[in-house]
Amino acid sequence: MNYLTTKINKLKEFKGIEEPTHFTVELRPTTKCNYDCFYCTDLHINENKIVPLSEDNMQKMLLSIKKNTGKNIQVFICGGEPTVYDRLTSLINSITNVMEGSDYVEVQTNLSIKEKKLIKLINELQNKRFVKISVSYHNTQCTNHMIFIKKCLLLKQHGILNMISYGYNSKKNVLSDYKKGKKILGSEHCEIVPLINASVDQDPNKGNDTFKEINILNEKEQTNLWDDDGHFFDKQLQYTKTDGEIIETSRNEMWLKRNNNFLGTKCSVPKWKVYVDWNGDVYKCFNQQFAPVKPIFNLNENVDYKYFKNLQCMDCTFTTCFFDMEYKKEIQQKDVKEIKIDRFFNTQKYKLIKKIK
Ligand code: SF4
Repeated sequence: MNYLTTKINKLKEFKGIEEPTHFTVELRPTTKCNYDCFYCTDLHINENKIVPLSEDNMQKMLLSIKKNTGKNIQVFICGGEPTVYDRLTSLINSITNVMEGSDYVEVQTNLSIKEKKLIKLINELQNKRFVKISVSYHNTQCTNHMIFIKKCLLLKQHGILNMISYGYNSKKNVLSDYKKGKKILGSEHCEIVPLINASVDQDPNKGNDTFKEINILNEKEQTNLWDDDGHFFDKQLQYTKTDGEIIETSRNEMWLKRNNNFLGTKCSVPKWKVYVDWNGDVYKCFNQQFAPVKPIFNLNENVDYKYFKNLQCMDCTFTTCFFDMEYKKEIQQKDVKEIKIDRFFNTQKYKLIKKIK
C-alpha cells in the first residue's frame, strides 16, 4: 500500500492556512486573452469560443452555496482575460445583486482595457461595494507603466482597486516598476508574484519550461527577505510530519522544492471552492478543468443543489497543485491513480458546449 505519495518525506497533514474566510467560486468566462505571455501559453486557448454564462443559474448557485454552507462568498473572475468576455459588466452586476455582508467579487485583469472602456465599466457597476479589481502587471508585454498606473489610480479613486501583482520573470526585471508602483499606489496594493504558476501541461515535451522560472527567481533574488512583498513568499503555510514536527513554509518554498505534489492525499478543496469553466462545466479542483474528469454539473443546464448540501473532501489525483495549497490535505492509506493533465481537455474539440437556458 503506497500512502506516501507526496514529495514531502513523512508528511502527516498539510494544514494550509487557518480557516479560510470565504467559499470561493472561481470562474473563467473565457479562455481567450489579448496577450501572449511566454509563461501562459498553456492556459489561454484562443480558439475556444465564448459561451455566454447563465446569470440566472449563477445567482441560484451562489444562493444555494450560501444557504447550505453558511459561508461568505468570493467570486473570483479570471481567464483568459475576463475583459474580453463582452457580458462582463452584466455578469458582475448579476453576481453582486445576490451578495450581502462581506461577500465580494474579484476580477483579475491585465488592465489592457482602454481607459475610456474602463471608465464605462466602472460607471456601469451597480454595487461597487462588493467589487474588487485585481491587476496583473505584465512587463513582458508592451505595457507603459505610467499609463498602467493611471488606470490603477482610477480604480483606487472609485474604491475598487485590490492587489496589483507584479509578475517577476527571467525576461525583464520587474523590481523597479514594483517599487514605483508601491510609492504611487501604496504598498497595500502591490505584491510580487513569480510567473511559474501559469503552465498547465506537466509533460515537459508539451510544456514551456516555465517551472525553471522559480529556480531563476530564487537564484537571483533573496526571496527570504520578501515576506512583506506578497502572499507567495510569506510563510503562511504549515505542515506536520509523522513524528509531530511542524514545518512552516511558503508557496515559494513549496514550488522551489517541488513539494507541491499531493497525489493520493485527501484534499479539502471541495469544501471551500468550485471552479466554473468557460463552457459552464463546474469542477472541484483547478486541474480537473484540464483533465478527462466528468464535471459535477454544467451551470448553463442546471444547478445541482444536492451537491452543496454535502460537501466532501476529494482524493487528489494530480501531481502538481497550482493555486490551492491553502486548503488542508491529509495522508491516507489508499492507492489513488494519477490523472494526467493536458490543455487538450480544455478545448472545444473535447468539451461539450451546452446552450444557455
Ligand atoms: S491538485 Fe487539486 S485535489 Fe490535489 S491537492 Fe491541489 S487542489 Fe487538492
